[in-house]
Amino acid sequence: MSEADIAVIIPVFNESKNIRLLYSRLVKTIELLTSKYQIIFVDDGSEDNSKDLVLDLTLENSSVYYINLNRNFGHQIAVSAGLKNVKAKCTVVIDADLQDPPEYIKNLYDEFQQGYDIVYAKRRRREGESFLKKITASLYYRLLKRLVKFEIPIDAGDFRIMSKRVVTSLNKMPEQSKYLRGQVAWLGYKQSYILYDRESRHGGESAYTIGKMINLAINGITSFSDKPLTYVSRLGFFISLLSFLTILFAIFSHYVLKETITGWTSLIVSVSFFGGIQLLSIGVIGEYLSRINKNILNRPLYVIDSTNIRINQENQSNTN
Ligand code: UDP
Ligand code: MG
Repeated sequence: MSEADIAVIIPVFNESKNIRLLYSRLVKTIELLTSKYQIIFVDDGSEDNSKDLVLDLTLENSSVYYINLNRNFGHQIAVSAGLKNVKAKCTVVIDADLQDPPEYIKNLYDEFQQGYDIVYAKRRRREGESFLKKITASLYYRLLKRLVKFEIPIDAGDFRIMSKRVVTSLNKMPEQSKYLRGQVAWLGYKQSYILYDRESRHGGESAYTIGKMINLAINGITSFSDKPLTYVSRLGFFISLLSFLTILFAIFSHYVLKETITGWTSLIVSVSFFGGIQLLSIGVIGEYLSRINKNILNRPLYVIDSTNIRINQENQSNTN
């Protein structure tokens, strides 16, 4: 694989309804920019005929590549597998469901040519997403901003263009639980953005279940901030103080005022309250522990079933 001017990485999980249309719109846009391009479909264990559709494309166009993962490893890992195997001056990451209109790659590329290392696409509005998703996403980004020390762009997903050196740096980052948009921001290269309208999904259904979304959100925080741990220990400190005062009051009222508050209510309230706080705190610690555990196990991030990219043995699975 020789070095391309632009590479496009597309994570695919059951996108048979979108692949053809995505491909034609993508090629139309890219061929106006350069003839030296790569389109890399990373199949993340699709169960429909996405793989066959991509295979057909590789027969039609020698600039199309595929990496089929053994099973569903998740969106961030699929993108990471693409990044590991790309060879281009700049790389675009785009969703397969046409929520990110491929035509905007021209805008990204134009802005990139102005001398930036990263240009991300910032959502002007989101079509076809529930009110709940919009509001939780917006709250989350704002929370994240308070927790991390560097700037993570608000309202930007993974649709972006990155220079070769950004991709190289990303590939060197060893974490097992990926939060790519945060990692890119952490690197701190010169970045800019374009505004775009995020469309609704063309065909099929979102595979990002609530569970996956929560995982990603937790990864985002635990990758870049220890503040939850600090907050939990401060909370513990504050609650202990409160408990101490309550104990003093209880002893005082029993022995001095000769009054003992009888009552189930105060008891049950305090037991549930402390129970809740304790579980929450253990949960927060657990999240960090699980990160450490994953990194210590140091398993390959993914396993490749088949690909038409000639890859080095070390890239067969990422052992970083
Ligand atoms: N995707 C993937 N693995 C998964 C889930 C999703 O590779 O386990 C791909 C999917 O095919 C799409 C992109 O990641 O190209 C974004 O997924 P989706 O549209 O389901 O997420 P949403 O836009 O709802 O956040
Ligand atoms: Mg989508």
